[in-house]
Amino acid sequence: MVRLEGLEPPRVAPPEPKSGASANFATAAAPGNTHPENAFSIGYPWFCPEFYKKLALTLPGSLKLTISLYDTGNKKKDSSDMNIAPAIKALHKDMTEWRHLLHQNPGTKYEEHFAARLVADKLTEWGIPFESGIAETGIVATIRGKGNGSGKTIGLRADMDALDIAEQSGQPWASKIPGKMHGCGHDGHTAALLGAAKYFNDTRDFDGTIHLIFQPAEEGGRGADRMIEEGLFERFPCDEVYAIHNWPGAKLGQALVSAGPVMASVDRYSIKVQGVSGHPGFPDSVINPVFVAARITTAIEELMNKHRAQGAQVSFHPGVSKSSSDGSNVVGENVTISGTVRTFDEKVREEVENAFREICDLIPASYVIGEGKNTQTASADIDYKRGTDVTNNAELQAQFAAAALQKVFGKDNVLPFHPVLGGEDFSTMARHVPGAYIAVGQKTSDPKSPHSQGLHNPGYDFNDEILPIAVQYYAALVEGRLPLDPAKELTPAVLPEASVG
Ligand SMILES: [Zn+2]
Ligand SMILES: [Zn+2]
Repeated sequence: MVRLEGLEPPRVAPPEPKSGASANFATAAAPGNTHPENAFSIGYPWFCPEFYKKLALTLPGSLKLTISLYDTGNKKKDSSDMNIAPAIKALHKDMTEWRHLLHQNPGTKYEEHFAARLVADKLTEWGIPFESGIAETGIVATIRGKGNGSGKTIGLRADMDALDIAEQSGQPWASKIPGKMHGCGHDGHTAALLGAAKYFNDTRDFDGTIHLIFQPAEEGGRGADRMIEEGLFERFPCDEVYAIHNWPGAKLGQALVSAGPVMASVDRYSIKVQGVSGHPGFPDSVINPVFVAARITTAIEELMNKHRAQGAQVSFHPGVSKSSSDGSNVVGENVTISGTVRTFDEKVREEVENAFREICDLIPASYVIGEGKNTQTASADIDYKRGTDVTNNAELQAQFAAAALQKVFGKDNVLPFHPVLGGEDFSTMARHVPGAYIAVGQKTSDPKSPHSQGLHNPGYDFNDEILPIAVQYYAALVEGRLPLDPAKELTPAVLPEASVG
């Protein structure tokens, strides 16, 4: 952010923002006119000396303008200048090695065998009790603090699974398994939680119990739901539960947190539209299913627009997944369209599902050919499946998460987590137990860096600088929520305002 201070607002239009650099300018007034209350400040997230030269020319001739330039952008290029305990810094090298091993050996949906083995081996080596085989490859480790006067328990969750993507990151530790990669950074989440296990086991500087939840199949496998179905919270009761996700949309050294919805519900649909096939030269004897499908999708999109006009955020992007005809001189019998519906609002979610079914009944029925006994109509079979729920952060837990983040990142670097229409199965954990899901920035100043690529991009790679930062966040959270010394209890922070960042 650029801060510009002077005696009056600029009279020239600011140029287009330039990305990649930021600076701070301060103007000082002429002698005899230095009242600080005359100063103004404007924030611009770009650096443009030309603009400030023009600005200087617009100031009254009697004023002398002094410009000082200094960088107020994110100075944290790595974790070394953050508030990290020496015991956690000492784990950085090991965590990086584990992360690279995990990255080289990705496992998708319930096949995270390499990750589960690595986690189990390390927990065994350190003498930490754990249970494995929960939802196939899931593991829960339990560490008790020096005290247990509080009787409270906190759950920390990391997902372990990879994606069906062919990696193009070019990193030396790139995936060794063709067609699979850790394209969402769950290798980093696992390595960080493993580092946290070592740290908490060595220090036990808390009053209560923590459960470290290593979860499979976050990517479309609803691993969290399955762990819960297999008794996660009965076997390992938690009073609160927390999770992190690395965030290429935010800079390394920044964190995002908000209360309420942060990730969307994701429901899947498939609509098979049945027409009447035939020769396109005989239009009265065919019902083209593509036309019917087009009207269905248009009607649904109009419905979405109605909800958007009322302030809801909804997403609906149909794709044609199958057609019975690819010939230009054949009207096919059927076409299947499929996709996802995403929103943050449970009421909208329900209304959309009901309207989907109505639209799929009404529109095909309006396509009729033939007469009497020979009447034929189009039809649509709909398969609508509810998927992950909205990830809702509990107000108080979000405030505790914000307080812990502020200790690690500094107050100015903790920003609001604007809701994202992506899905996250931590939502189910947060429905059972009050919790908070936060994002840790990982983007560097180099836009071509693998750390600056988006999640699920073949060129993406987790930023290892996050590893000690994440452990320090867990430490601040656990040691502050379950303090041995009541004076060290974490105070809920005021959440960063949505207008910031
Ligand atoms: Zn993902
Ligand atoms: Zn992810």
